[in-house]
Amino acid sequence: MVVALPAQAAWVGDAIDLMGTRVSVELWADDEARGRGLVAEVMREYHRVDDAMSTYKPDSEISRVNAHAADAPMVISAELFGLVERSLELSAASGGAFDITYDSVGYLYDFRAHQRPTDAQIAERLGAVDYRHVVLDRAERSIFFKTAGVRINLGGIAKGYVVERAAAMLRERGVQHALLNAGGDTRVIGDRRGQPWIVGIRHPRVADEVVTRLPLVDEAISTSGDYERYFEENGRRYHHIINPATGRPTEGILTVTVIGPDGTMTDGLDTAIFVLGVDKGLELIESYPEYETIIVDAAGKVSYSKGLMAPN
Ligand code: ADP
Ligand code: MG
Repeated sequence: MVVALPAQAAWVGDAIDLMGTRVSVELWADDEARGRGLVAEVMREYHRVDDAMSTYKPDSEISRVNAHAADAPMVISAELFGLVERSLELSAASGGAFDITYDSVGYLYDFRAHQRPTDAQIAERLGAVDYRHVVLDRAERSIFFKTAGVRINLGGIAKGYVVERAAAMLRERGVQHALLNAGGDTRVIGDRRGQPWIVGIRHPRVADEVVTRLPLVDEAISTSGDYERYFEENGRRYHHIINPATGRPTEGILTVTVIGPDGTMTDGLDTAIFVLGVDKGLELIESYPEYETIIVDAAGKVSYSKGLMAPN
């Protein structure tokens, strides 16, 4: 005799290496089998966005843009158009600190191979780093680069975007408790069934230590660090966040965390604040009332935005 088993509620999840980091999902499903289906759907979504936005894939949409958008305006997907548009808005808001054209110089760094551009190479290409070279036409849904040598890279915003997308998809399917993570970017749906999700901000220098732990419900959190991708040479650390003004890794900040309602924004803002430094970074976050930041500078000093300061 075959007996149909009642649906079993359970936590289900998965994790894989993608986008140069670890991506994962954990969700509460009323029915375990259905939950596994949703987990697979999230993984497909992670892959889909990576296939479109990775500059390491010569066939990705963004690689085609980088190869041809200086020749003539190119019609692109609504998704890529939207993400570039949001990136340009953040460039304007941050005075160019966040700039996806950083890659016009940035592509010459290879942190795994310990390679960096020479001064001459930086000088030659730095003129191509300027978000104002990127022209979007909303009616045509096209992108155009005003000068040759411009390359765009969405690495500063794409991981926050992908967890936000996956969260939207899960919410549509009725999921009420989930944690989605892509490296330093996390998006939570609801709570962890009766208690908040606890996300730790990793200490930028001390292994297995945290700067602080934050309880989160229905929120996004992004952390950037100079320890994510870097190499050292003659006592100097060359890491993956580039000051668009100089074409060189930023100095003075070890890690930035941003918390707020939208993962695409928290990811973009953490990179922008990294470039801006403590004072200007705190100023920038004040113009986004729903967002807060925690910054650790090179001296180890921790700064909090106003909404996070302990009441006295
Ligand atoms: P993490 O990778 O540590 O989570 P970020 O969210 O700050 O940190 O993303 C870093 C990535 O952002 C880099 O690997 C690069 O792809 C991209 N990037 C570097 N400098 C800039 C910049 N000035 N503006 C926009 N994106 C940048
Ligand atoms: Mg970022």
